Amino acid sequence: MVCDIKRIRLEIEGIVQGVGFRPFVYRLAARHCLGGWVRNTGRGVLIEAEGKPENLALFREAISSEAPPLAVITGLRCSEQVPAGETGFAILASGGGESRAMISPDCDVCPDCLAELFDPTDRRYRYPFINCTNCGPRYSIITGIPYDRPFTTMAPFAMCPACRAEYDDPASRRFHAQPNACPACGPHLRLTTAAGDDVAGDPLDGAIRLLREGRILAVKGVGGYHLAVDAGNEEGVRELRRRKQRDEKPFALMAPTLEAISCFALVDETEARLLSGTERPIVILRKKEANAVAPSVAPANGYFGVMLPATPLHYLLLRGNFSALVMTSGNVTDEPIAFRDDEARNRLAGIADAFLTHDREIHARLDDSVVRVFQGNPLFLRRSRGYVPRGVLLPASQTNVLAVGAELKAAVCLTRGNRAFLSQHIGDLKNTATLASLDETVIHLQRLLDVQPAVVAHDLHPDYLSTAYAGRIADLPALAVQHHHAHLASCMAENGLDGECIGVIFDGTGYGLDGTIWGGEFLVGDYRGFRRAGQFCYVPLPGGDAAVREPFRMAISWLHRTYGAKLFDLPLPCLAEVGEPERGILLRMLERGINSPSTSSCGRLFDAAAAILGVRSRISYEGQAAIELEALAEEGAPGEPFPFVVSAEDDRQVLDFAPLFKAMTEELIAGGGRAGLARRFHVTIALAAATVCDEIRTNSGANRVALSGGVFQNRLLSEEMVNLLAARGFDVYTHRLVPPNDGGLALGQAVIAEWSNAPFPQSLR
Ligand code: ZN
Ligand code: ZN
Ligand code: FE
Repeated sequence: MVCDIKRIRLEIEGIVQGVGFRPFVYRLAARHCLGGWVRNTGRGVLIEAEGKPENLALFREAISSEAPPLAVITGLRCSEQVPAGETGFAILASGGGESRAMISPDCDVCPDCLAELFDPTDRRYRYPFINCTNCGPRYSIITGIPYDRPFTTMAPFAMCPACRAEYDDPASRRFHAQPNACPACGPHLRLTTAAGDDVAGDPLDGAIRLLREGRILAVKGVGGYHLAVDAGNEEGVRELRRRKQRDEKPFALMAPTLEAISCFALVDETEARLLSGTERPIVILRKKEANAVAPSVAPANGYFGVMLPATPLHYLLLRGNFSALVMTSGNVTDEPIAFRDDEARNRLAGIADAFLTHDREIHARLDDSVVRVFQGNPLFLRRSRGYVPRGVLLPASQTNVLAVGAELKAAVCLTRGNRAFLSQHIGDLKNTATLASLDETVIHLQRLLDVQPAVVAHDLHPDYLSTAYAGRIADLPALAVQHHHAHLASCMAENGLDGECIGVIFDGTGYGLDGTIWGGEFLVGDYRGFRRAGQFCYVPLPGGDAAVREPFRMAISWLHRTYGAKLFDLPLPCLAEVGEPERGILLRMLERGINSPSTSSCGRLFDAAAAILGVRSRISYEGQAAIELEALAEEGAPGEPFPFVVSAEDDRQVLDFAPLFKAMTEELIAGGGRAGLARRFHVTIALAAATVCDEIRTNSGANRVALSGGVFQNRLLSEEMVNLLAARGFDVYTHRLVPPNDGGLALGQAVIAEWSNAPFPQSLR
């Protein structure tokens, strides 16, 4: 009989701690009549199990196929052991060893907890901090490792006997659920006035009453404060806009259910899946024609950004009370989202009428993630809460690297072994508040991953705050990475590509090897280096940064190529706005090259088109002109492309779009419909790019194309390009795990640094 018994050892790596993995193994062992034990280790979970071989096989299979919802197994090693005659199965105390386990992202409420939340007989009925091993906050409350209650912001709360019993019971859903709490022992809600005085009565009821009255509430969420107002109350929404000094940028919405969302927005299957996923991102959805949402929520925009409740508190606020709430980041424009109570109080006091807050601290600041669906996959516009700190598997592992990103949409990346961990969205690194946030994020990520980088990678731009930050890290060699090379590497890395690829990198701004502003780039390269095989032709950027805020300047720059000083005779609304003195100044700037750096930017090309077509001459938030141009184009039919010119200069393909702007302008003046022209503009850019790719393939033999850069947040252009390139036999790769914009840049910087043994600036030309 004895020879029938076998014993195996399973070493499991991944997100397997703090997600109910050990009780799951315990139950599985009982089901298959196995003896042995399970315990946490520094690397993950270690199991030894013995019993009949057929039962062991079933057990091993179920470990992967039935793992708890939040678990992610990234490695499983099995080895045979000598049977020890154990018949009982035990959960042992954690062993030592280096801490290499992975932390779970913050997670939405699980169905079991949700049922208890609304069950009047449950002891956690209406308790906003309900959670279990299958759900609840993680990354945002963890202060150190190992992931244990003392290293979370739940440390000050001592569990009551009832909670403690659950915590110690392997059969409970709350076995070792570190944030476990109940009304008797856990955090509590507080409703205060803007001045900080308590509002009498039940805080939740009081908050709902204020929201019903159209008041603006600061609500403490997972990774920071939101500003909430009833989305059906136009006056309230307009007041929020006024107080936040935010003119046009759309506000995000939160609705209680998918059904509620489908009353005001169109939701397809993929979008529904993303909305209801445990990550709870904001999903960009097309508006329904007639809807009850206040017009000021998303003016001049065909889309709403919508999410489902992400915490028990959100469910309690929304269910049965509102069909939707505005839930916008609790920040002052350009500053990071407020997440500490005193800071929120100070910064939001002039905006919020009242504060719905609580006494569980947020340790890591996290914005909401924002995605749109592209060809059945998420396309990240912002990757943050719910996704961080999930790792990206790298094609190989070399040194541990810290990469600090660029300037806009900053995020940092830390690599450990064969995984890269991209941080949450930090914001635009233009002030000391965001720089401080970057530093906090680096510290938090380093502590959680328990890794010391050997190299720091940064953007080639000498003036970015992130570049200076990298330079201040003592004793670490720094590596400057060209911006668009990093974009290419980012897309290649998340797709697991190695070897030479063509990179079509379209974005707004990136410091070029020649010191100009690049942005419409065709690279051929890999992680080690690149060659600039093609580019949009250089045009002047009249006024530098002013041209970014005022797209009409780029229209003038492009039209000047064709019409010279006569451009002002063109009957275009965007030109009519420019006064006589300013016209003279702009012409002198263009003709003499004063304060007009050269750029090959694709973002600025879209700005020019948006201005010419009368979409937007000045913007109030980044990317606005291109976003509105895309929305207009979606209403137009895809007609004939406009003409463009490709010419070879020093082995490099150069694309000139002056003929496009001439043709588009003349058709517009002749009465052509704006939507159709906007659509044909998109078609033309895609065709021009594919034409250049063909040319590059002939010269280099490379057949794989990676699309990256902020312009690829544009779904219409992405679709057009993917289809066109695929039809020409290219293998096309896009972003699905990290944003195509600068939010995903640090991943590329990190991989390039990993592949580069000697720390010196990448320069192959
Ligand atoms: Zn739960
Ligand atoms: Zn309790
Ligand atoms: Fe970029």
